Amino acid sequence: MEDIAGKTFKVVIVGSGPAGLTAALYAARADLSPIVFEGPEPGGQLMTTTDVENFPGYPDGVMGPQMMQEFREQATRFGADCRYGMVTNIDFSQKPYILTIDDNVEIFAHSVIASTGASAKWLHLPSEQKLRGKGVSACATCDGAFFRDQHVLVIGGGDTAMEEATFLTKFASKVTVVHRRDELRASKAMQQRAFNNDKIEFMWDSELVEVLGDNVVEGAKVKNRNTDEVTTLDDVTGVFVAIGHKPNTDLFKGVVEMDDVGYIQTKGQSTETDQPGLFACGDAMDAVYRQAVTAAGTGCKAALDAERYLGELESREAIAESHWK
Ligand code: NAP
Repeated sequence: MEDIAGKTFKVVIVGSGPAGLTAALYAARADLSPIVFEGPEPGGQLMTTTDVENFPGYPDGVMGPQMMQEFREQATRFGADCRYGMVTNIDFSQKPYILTIDDNVEIFAHSVIASTGASAKWLHLPSEQKLRGKGVSACATCDGAFFRDQHVLVIGGGDTAMEEATFLTKFASKVTVVHRRDELRASKAMQQRAFNNDKIEFMWDSELVEVLGDNVVEGAKVKNRNTDEVTTLDDVTGVFVAIGHKPNTDLFKGVVEMDDVGYIQTKGQSTETDQPGLFACGDAMDAVYRQAVTAAGTGCKAALDAERYLGELESREAIAESHWK
């Protein structure tokens, strides 16, 4: 990072999922020499996905990590500087903004694109947290293969839960979906796929109350919310929590308008926020669609919005040539 210490960038992109890398591609092609800080999960959530079948242009589907590698290659081909690193602080109180990278290097930015995505939510049971990575997971794609011929639970009733449950049947002998209501939130197609799968069973109106075991999962306790009856499932060896995601927007808290959950609010059809020069795209601002293709679309918009903003800024303030280097 020392090579960029004290430098000023026209566009700094925070996050490297489909939104960030599409923003990088467009900004690079607009000659804005963007720098992308890839964050704690380079490539974003698609790095933990297997087949992506709904991204246009891949008639045979594509593996998530491969697709993100291709996004990155396309952006770097036009000069985007994509690098490992975390933006750990942004000082929006002066312009250009001051960004701290990995807690020790400061750079300056005339505009910032927030494409920090979202992360899996947890139930926050002490036993769940204790056994995270020891049989409790939020990513079937990452960990499913460890549960060959075993009985696993999936918590949740949305598309993610159905997708995880269906995927897990490739390995597990039995998958039990534990859902807090008596109907699923998932789309009809995903529901049907799960209902048609002989390996998937459902525990309705139920909640996980405890994961058993000290160093590995050795069972689970599930409570029926109507009767309060607690069932101990002592053959369960894996628990997959699939209850949705939280936007990774803590970095921007207090400096930009967000909704209650933490999604950055943007103006109208644009990616503009109420902080001039800060643009938001992808899952960091999209509580509704949250698809790779929509994230890429908003990433494109963020780069175009940043380009227009910089053009106006340049003409308005006649930024000195040296300032841009
Ligand atoms: P979601 O739609 O918000 O569903 C979350 C599920 O978890 C809901 O069933 C919810 O129950 C349950 N839940 C939430 N908090 C809980 C808690 N504390 N305890 C127990 N259960 C809890 O999230 P998602 O499934 O991650 O999907 C998010 C978005 O991504 C959706 O728009 C979805 O369509 C999309 N997606 C699409 C695909 C695909 O098309 N291939 C795959 C995955 C996700 P309630 O139903 O009772 O609220």
